[in-house]
Amino acid sequence: MDLRGKQIVVVGLAQTGIAVARFCHRHGAQVVVTDGKPAAQLGERMAQLADVPVTWQLGGHDLATFTAADLVVMSPGVPTLPEMTAARAAGVEVIAEIELAYRGFVPGARLLAITGTNGKSTTTALTGALCAQAGPPSFCGGNLGNMPLIDAVDHPANAAGGLIVAEVAAFMLENCTSFAADAGVLTNITPDHLDRFGTLERYAEMKGRIWDWQRPEQVAIANAADPWVVREAAGVPGQLLWFDSRPGAEVAAGACLSADRTELVLRGVPGAAPVERYPVDDLVLVGTHNLENAMAAYLAARAAGVAPAAIRAGARGYRPLPHRMEWIGERDDVRFYDDSKGTNVASVAASVRGFPRPLVLIAGGVDKGGSYRPMLEALDGVCRGIVLIGAAAPLIRAACAEHGVTYPVLDAADLHAAVAAAAALTGPGDAVVLSPACASYDMFDNYGHRGRVFREAVAAIGARRLDLPSQDRAT
Ligand code: ADP
Repeated sequence: MDLRGKQIVVVGLAQTGIAVARFCHRHGAQVVVTDGKPAAQLGERMAQLADVPVTWQLGGHDLATFTAADLVVMSPGVPTLPEMTAARAAGVEVIAEIELAYRGFVPGARLLAITGTNGKSTTTALTGALCAQAGPPSFCGGNLGNMPLIDAVDHPANAAGGLIVAEVAAFMLENCTSFAADAGVLTNITPDHLDRFGTLERYAEMKGRIWDWQRPEQVAIANAADPWVVREAAGVPGQLLWFDSRPGAEVAAGACLSADRTELVLRGVPGAAPVERYPVDDLVLVGTHNLENAMAAYLAARAAGVAPAAIRAGARGYRPLPHRMEWIGERDDVRFYDDSKGTNVASVAASVRGFPRPLVLIAGGVDKGGSYRPMLEALDGVCRGIVLIGAAAPLIRAACAEHGVTYPVLDAADLHAAVAAAAALTGPGDAVVLSPACASYDMFDNYGHRGRVFREAVAAIGARRLDLPSQDRAT
């Protein structure tokens, strides 16, 4: 990939666009940065490129610049623009930032890429933690944290034997043409982002692109229990490895749980022993969904050649990302979990299904328009009560009535009152889980803020704080 002298249009001035502009300049290109927002709203971001000679086209896009470019690079999150279509019609390549990064990876650097509706960040961060113990330099980023994948190109991990771990979103895959990971993971597919993709079929097809350009020796890691993932896996060019968390599941090539669910069992992974067993106890993660994330991460790392001892060391050192089923406090053998990132019904259902303790759920906030039924079904048998906060409280209450729940459903004025009410419903051996199934902005700035207030409220009722260090990540 030679960018010298090329005219490159970078679309979207946020963290990724800034990184791409820097990268292209460093590699000898002439850079135009364009964004729909006017300069008046972008001052701070423009300042980050003060030392880079950039032509600015802000407050809209210039069609002629697109059609005259050598290359157009899209930031994630930028919607499909008419200028992109026109550029393509004029024979100009329009690609995602991850595609540009991919083209800069040297032979022998190993790329592990993770996508899916839920579990991307956890699986990516865990895979990164396993790879970090492997010995060679490693990079973990992409959609995760503050590390766009383009930053991996000039990173020491981009060398023979290096390990590059990337979280990838459907928006990114939409503008790829050759992106092929040595290990490509698809965690699950449930309705999301339909405003952008129109149909679940189209959204699933974009997620499936994680495998479409793979070569036969590369591995496609797929959730055997997810019908949409299974559908996308049909006919992929790489070697399929399945993971399956269902009781009694067996896989010929991939990962499942031992009958007593104390071990992750890997079978038929290229380059590994025929059967390998890893204790679940190495992980502090809770919930079946996290065992799925772990199986996917272990398969990806193992297929990329990370040794079993490094996997175990990485797993033992791994801590959950903030606000994802984070065990944050304890009082009288009642544990408190912060799952503020549980912002949709499917993710809450996954968090509480098969939960190891009876629990009181704190839920509510801004309703997202779907049915609460999958969450209530997942709570059957483990739920001691629900405490509701925020604007969606009446909707969730109505859904509880329709579902015929027999446990108490209480209202609370704020999160502090909710924690006190929830704790009052528990006994020793129980848990209180904040997993709201809703957006946060009726009462909080974002899910991170909601999680922090939850911690304060848990401390305020006299619970012991657990300071398991979380991964260092902005929320
Ligand atoms: P993402 O980056 O895809 O949003 P995260 O790892 O940040 O995923 O997890 C977000 C939420 O999704 C978690 O709080 C949890 O409730 C739920 N979740 C995590 N992993 C899974 C999974 N494998 N299947 C379903 N839900 C999951």
